[in-house]
Amino acid sequence: MARADTLARARELDRPELAYLMRFPTADGVKDMELTWAELARDTAWATERLRGHGLAAGQRAVLTTSGFEGFWGQAVIGALRTLKVTYGIAEAMGWDHRRTAVFHRELDPQVVIGLSAETLEGLAGSADIGEMFRSVSVVMARPAAIPVLRGVGVSACLISAVGPALALECPQQTGAHVNAAEWRVDERDGQLFLAAGEQRTSALAETPLGIAGRVVTGRCGCGSEDPRVLLAEA
Ligand SMILES: [Zn+2]
Repeated sequence: MARADTLARARELDRPELAYLMRFPTADGVKDMELTWAELARDTAWATERLRGHGLAAGQRAVLTTSGFEGFWGQAVIGALRTLKVTYGIAEAMGWDHRRTAVFHRELDPQVVIGLSAETLEGLAGSADIGEMFRSVSVVMARPAAIPVLRGVGVSACLISAVGPALALECPQQTGAHVNAAEWRVDERDGQLFLAAGEQRTSALAETPLGIAGRVVTGRCGCGSEDPRVLLAEA
């Protein structure tokens, strides 16, 4: 049982705490920040509760469009889908891979589509009716630039967006995308978003202007969450 032996030995090895090195744009240029496995686990737990709030449940099917470099939030969403026992297919969010999204849409007949980009929609629009494709999908979570395109064809899309190294997820209330207040402090000044790591985050981030135009809404949301919500100018 060489394989069992190997696995047993591997378990005894020290595991580095670093899961990802995140690279994100700020108002002052590109910034790097570490993401530990413990932080990723907490981000995954938060994303799980947010997706549960959308009614995601065991046996449903989902299509996720995300790029490899977005792994810092993509992994949290994938982990959430696995926890919720939602079957998923993953397509690249870049426009050139829109056909994979079309194939998963046809083959999986998903109740949930997460991460649609304007580039994917533009690619799909060449050969399909976007409204027809997504109006029957129960939960559509799309990126800022894709939201007006979808709403324009009658698809009730919720916002999903990276805000720097954090993930913002809109709830069914559609009154802004929640940011995990236990991990991040999100603020707004002169119509611009600022972000800092929360106290329990071991990877530090001092307050940073993100170069993203938007507003922050605080106070209890209709969904019951106290997490602040961001409203992006682009969405
Ligand atoms: Zn809410």
